Amino acid sequence: MALADFDRYPLLFGPSPVHPLDRLSAHLGGARVWAKREDCNSGLAYGGNKTRKLEYLLPDALANGADTLVSIGGVQSNHTRQVAAVAARAGLKAVLVQESWVDWPDPVNDKVGNILLSRVMGADVRLVQEGFGIGFKESWQQALADVRAAGGVPYAIPAGASDHRLGGLGFANWAYEVEQQERELGVFFDTIVVCSVTGSTQAGMIAGFAGQERPRRVLGIDASAKLDETQAQVEKIARNTAALIGLGRDLRDDEITVLPGWAGDLYGIPVQSTVDAIALTGSLEGVILDPVYEGKSMAALIDLVRSHDIPRDSNVLYAHLGGQPALNAYHAVFDPASD
Ligand code: PLP
Repeated sequence: MALADFDRYPLLFGPSPVHPLDRLSAHLGGARVWAKREDCNSGLAYGGNKTRKLEYLLPDALANGADTLVSIGGVQSNHTRQVAAVAARAGLKAVLVQESWVDWPDPVNDKVGNILLSRVMGADVRLVQEGFGIGFKESWQQALADVRAAGGVPYAIPAGASDHRLGGLGFANWAYEVEQQERELGVFFDTIVVCSVTGSTQAGMIAGFAGQERPRRVLGIDASAKLDETQAQVEKIARNTAALIGLGRDLRDDEITVLPGWAGDLYGIPVQSTVDAIALTGSLEGVILDPVYEGKSMAALIDLVRSHDIPRDSNVLYAHLGGQPALNAYHAVFDPASD
């Protein structure tokens, strides 16, 4: 089967915008930096990378007669907020298990940002005490059982819509979208920088780009602080997705790169380089990043461009995957007087 043979429920405005970040590029003095904007890819609750993945899961849910999407994430999960939006858009219910993945002591952490938006959209939001982990969780199984016991038909969406047969398809499609936009813009992005945690964003890209003629590097930046788990998950999903879309060859190990160095010690806790990257991108470009994901991948891009590890003559594409609503819970980081 080819990618085009899979059902896709259109949720995006169309191709997400691509534009240069020229003031940031000039400041860094190296490669030309561009961004592709999943944070404004749709009109659904501020968009983000999961909306694109869900374009392929939603037809499967509907084909299975589901009436409730059931998913899981941290308290400030961007993913569960996008599941709530997609459920609303499709006329389904949403049950969201929000685990305490991040030990972030802010008193409004479970009240503002993503979780507030999910509540606004009518999702059944369940707070559960359980630490960070991208695997299958008991709390999620319980939520599925609860929907069944009440006579509903649940559709199970794992953390980040990643460890799912169709989880890599959205970003395999992104790879073809990039190729088309390159033709229109007359540019070739030899390096892609993308944040990785549950893995299917980067994995889908790898599988999609692997089918194209011109090779390029996809640099995953770990933001989970559990590199081995992230790397293993990206490898698994990239290989499964490549097989699913009929790539016709095995992926090579050198096509799958997840870099450590910018996550800090813990998922969800910004470090100085994260805060600096957010401030720099905001002040030079007016582009907003979050402290859990995109601030960490931008910190990596900044270092790699400055050091010329990404060569000066490169065009590097920063995949902006969304996530800004979480900023509300991190207000104290940018307002030292508030402590
Ligand atoms: N960036 C943002 C804003 C996210 O919400 C996520 C979700 O986990 C990621 C990056 C990482 O994507 P993935 O989980 O597919 O690796």
